[in-house]
Amino acid sequence: MDCLFCKIVAGEIPARKLYEDDQLVAFHDIGPQAPVHFLVIPKRHIATLTDLDETDKALAGHLLYTAQQLASEQGCDEGFRLVMNCNELGGQTVGHIHMHVLGQRQLHWPPG
Ligand code: AMP
Ligand code: ZN
Repeated sequence: MDCLFCKIVAGEIPARKLYEDDQLVAFHDIGPQAPVHFLVIPKRHIATLTDLDETDKALAGHLLYTAQQLASEQGCDEGFRLVMNCNELGGQTVGHIHMHVLGQRQLHWPPG
């Protein structure tokens, strides 16, 4: 499958990984939008949030909890933001589910 993030999972494309377990990988974003900006992804290819089903609930919870733990480890306890863009209108550019973790600067709302 021609998926950029599956290639990162397989080690075919280099990434600055900060975490890996049997289900997830986290790595620094190549175009950081904050001093801390990394992505947490499932190893299994799931294209986007609308493809999640009932059986993915535990994986989704694990993704959220891991993002929070890693944000803490990266020194973001004062505040951080989690973002998951879904499909074209949601601004998703890579078709493999990923959670952005952004921190270490003041973040604003609403987003663009
Ligand atoms: P999204 O627009 O939500 O789909 O986010 C995709 C993110 O992936 C962007 O923030 C990109 O900077 C990031 N990205 C694209 N290619 C790579 C790569 N090879 N390594 C790390 N991050 C990447
Ligand atoms: Zn993939």
